Amino acid sequence: MRRCLRVRIKGNCSEKLISALKIASEVVPELCFFFSDINSEYELVVGKEEPLKGASGLFDIPRKTAYVVELDGKYRLSRAILHEIGHMFGLSHCKNRNCVMNELSCLDDSYPELCHACRSTLREEIARSI
Ligand SMILES: [Zn+2]
Ligand SMILES: [Zn+2]
Repeated sequence: MRRCLRVRIKGNCSEKLISALKIASEVVPELCFFFSDINSEYELVVGKEEPLKGASGLFDIPRKTAYVVELDGKYRLSRAILHEIGHMFGLSHCKNRNCVMNELSCLDDSYPELCHACRSTLREEIARSI
């Protein structure tokens, strides 16, 4: 079995969310998402309510929990998930307009991409956590 970082999902197991998680784990294969009550250090809470006024997501480093609004669009929810997971592992905002760590990433509805620098930092951090 490949080693992966277990992320527990709290939220409605909707079709939209499942396809967003599938795309997120295509982009970062080290991530494994679970709806079940597995023992996981990392949590992703997906809901319809805005966790912060005007924000589509936020992360809570001490709790290792990322909060994401269930955004509409083909790829926006996976972009938001990957963005908050990136913050969870210490990534900052990226100047590259095509990278999911760009500040305006969630306004975009294109397939989520991580620039080379963000991808390698995220992989290093995940490898350290597994
Ligand atoms: Zn951000
Ligand atoms: Zn980047």
